[in-house]
Amino acid sequence: MSKSNEIYLSCSNIRSGFNIFRDNKILPCCYARSDDFVITRFLGDSSFDEFDRILREVKIYQEGLIQKHKNGNIPNCCKSCVYLQKKHWNTDHFNFNFLILNHYKACNLKCKHCFYIEENKDLTKDTPQDIVMNFIEYCRSKGLFKINSYISLGGGEPSINRKLLSLFEYCLEYKISLEINSNGAKFLPIIADGINKGIFTLYLSPDVGSKELFFQLKGVDLFDITWSNIKKYVNQTNGKAFVKFIIQESNKDDIENMINMCLKTGVKNVNLSFDFNIKESKYKYYKSSIEKFVFLCHKNQICCDINTYVPNLLLASLKDEQKLQFEKVIHNASGYVYFWGASHFLEQFLDNYVVDHKKIRGIIDRDTQKIGNSINGIAIYAPSILTVQKCDTIIISVAHNHIEIKDSITKFLKENSIKINNIVIWN
Ligand code: SF4
Ligand code: SF4
Repeated sequence: MSKSNEIYLSCSNIRSGFNIFRDNKILPCCYARSDDFVITRFLGDSSFDEFDRILREVKIYQEGLIQKHKNGNIPNCCKSCVYLQKKHWNTDHFNFNFLILNHYKACNLKCKHCFYIEENKDLTKDTPQDIVMNFIEYCRSKGLFKINSYISLGGGEPSINRKLLSLFEYCLEYKISLEINSNGAKFLPIIADGINKGIFTLYLSPDVGSKELFFQLKGVDLFDITWSNIKKYVNQTNGKAFVKFIIQESNKDDIENMINMCLKTGVKNVNLSFDFNIKESKYKYYKSSIEKFVFLCHKNQICCDINTYVPNLLLASLKDEQKLQFEKVIHNASGYVYFWGASHFLEQFLDNYVVDHKKIRGIIDRDTQKIGNSINGIAIYAPSILTVQKCDTIIISVAHNHIEIKDSITKFLKENSIKINNIVIWN
């Protein structure tokens, strides 16, 4: 396929990965759950020839879907998808980047909102773990897992599934990034170990911050255990474990309790998401809850990563909040300010916002390929600029790993005897 010059509605998921689902099904993304969206299936044969067929069919299906998007013939499932966006798509071809594993569904909770449990109660329909592992081995042997590739594990609850231990061990051995989504009701030392090795990313979903609501929503009395496990993960990983909240009807009034529990347990990184089953006409009912959540995170210096599932209409008001937060930092600075991180996050912000503050002196980044360039007219320097230029405030302008970056900046400043008044995490 040739490179496209057109602007059209499409998504990056169908260019970069797919989902191994239950019942041997392969789906194009984590969002699609309809049977119309089944790309192909494992036919129970674990040979590399069979896996060649799977990849060929994935490629043909995804190219066909891209073509449909290009022609404006958007399938129903894509029509309501938050990932669908209108833009210039640079690449038309499939570039393997992620593999989503939703091939099992056993769980120790009974959440009212769980579509996994509702949709399919029959555990015999799980896609066999040995086929999944053989397929992953096939992908690795073909060199498909590149530096930025990752496996994302949903399910079901991964911490109670013994079969998944082989996957954890495999990813650790071959250094394949693994994203784990867990309800937190069970602590697994191997997960903390994987986070500390920089191979695993963990998203824990307590959903709520109050005990009564937890029982109402999840049907089990595991609130204290869940939050004590969260504390354990946070402590044992130096704050790198994420706590994820999906804002929905049942928890939208529990925001203060959520943040209080995060503060009590030392959580430093949260991920805010939104129930994608909520219709657009209802967004306004959730606006104040989402804004309150982000405000309380900023107030308490908790890094809040906003998931793509937060609809654009709600994102717009969060961006206003982001600007206010930025203005406040600039206003409070008594000298020059540098951004730290020539990131995509900063680029997006600067695209929508004209920074004409005289206090902004530049962007600092360690990536030698970025140094010497600029973003929206703001020059990018190596950290050594701080040894020759005065600076009052550093704004950490990256989307992830704020705590580690703050630690590395502090170390750099100490090693070079540089005094800075303020290092601010901005998100
Ligand atoms: S637009 Fe949404 S539903 Fe369609 S392929 Fe992309 S992620 Fe899946
Ligand atoms: S923890 Fe997740 S998989 Fe388990 S019941 Fe709740 S929503 Fe479903």
